[in-house]
Amino acid sequence: MKVIDHINKAKKPLFSFELLPPLKGKGIQSIYDGIDPLVEFNPSFINVTYHREEFIYKKREKGYLEKIAIKKRPGTVGICAAIVNKYKVDAVPHIICGGFTKEETENALIDLDFLGIDNVLALRGDPIKTEPAFIPEKEGHEHAVDLVKQIVGLNKGIYMDEDLQNAIPTDFSIGVAGYPEKHFESPNMKSDINYLKQKIDAGADYIITQLFYDTNKFKKFVELCRKNDIHVPIIPGLKPISNKSQLISLSKFFHIDLPDDLVDAIEKCKNDAAVKQVGIEWAIQQSKELIEFGVPCIHYYTMGKSVAVREIAKAIY
Ligand code: FAD
Repeated sequence: MKVIDHINKAKKPLFSFELLPPLKGKGIQSIYDGIDPLVEFNPSFINVTYHREEFIYKKREKGYLEKIAIKKRPGTVGICAAIVNKYKVDAVPHIICGGFTKEETENALIDLDFLGIDNVLALRGDPIKTEPAFIPEKEGHEHAVDLVKQIVGLNKGIYMDEDLQNAIPTDFSIGVAGYPEKHFESPNMKSDINYLKQKIDAGADYIITQLFYDTNKFKKFVELCRKNDIHVPIIPGLKPISNKSQLISLSKFFHIDLPDDLVDAIEKCKNDAAVKQVGIEWAIQQSKELIEFGVPCIHYYTMGKSVAVREIAKAIY
């Protein structure tokens, strides 16, 4: 079932979560180990991230360095099919512009359609570490909005081969990303919201947000969206903090601010077990505030560790 249908039919806020494909060489069991503790809370859908290639240098004979492209976390489509098959829960694969030509994207969408997966989260993807800014493939998309347009086209039976006659349309529900604290490349919130609106106007059904720790920022973001004629469901994304080093890494990688009270509480912790407890309690409090605010669903970022999310789900669902 489509995410948008889950939301429209829901009588209470839904529970969903995101997981990462395992590092290459690890089996599917690590995915099941992440899902099993959360199944009893009836997730409506499970997102699986997509990780594009990275470039590494391998030492060869005579000291030459060879540049090699390597995908460390392949398997998004296969994992989604395995989730649907094993748990009968809807899976949402992330589809990104980076590293894909339009034709490769079309072929990936055809695979998903054949597998009966009718949800995608359409994203641009981050720049790869060796590039100063995002560089699209020569025959690829530059922004998520272009990807949304391609998927909407396919939903109307418009494939890349213009000679195709009577092609069967796909039927994807499309989610896109939103940023309560602004996307880091945007000059300001106004610009970011304008581009977010373009994704919705192009046919996206709902928004999932970047993680945040200040619920008021999410509330202001929703208000701003509504003022700017963005009326689709907005699903907040939460990630419980689990160690002290995240005080630096979360701000660095996700370009977000952490509230003073949270930082103070974590700095006082003597070990990571204590940090984990603070992280769980903070996320429980945020979840309560969000439900009171009227969110349709809360989406938890597990990052492969579902123990903390289980504690939160126990308190909320
Ligand atoms: P876009 O919507 O294209 O926006 C990127 C920037 O360009 C923004 O600053 C925006 O304001 C601006 N912009 C948008 N459209 C235009 C336009 N037409 N002209 C000029 N500027 C424009 N990354 C992964 O690699 N894999 C994942 O699985 C993944 N999952 C994610 C899940 C969620 C819920 C979120 C919030 C992010 C995820 N990301 C993932 C990270 C995401 O790919 C990055 O944040 C990326 O930098 C931006 O993606 P986007 O889809 O928001 O891009």
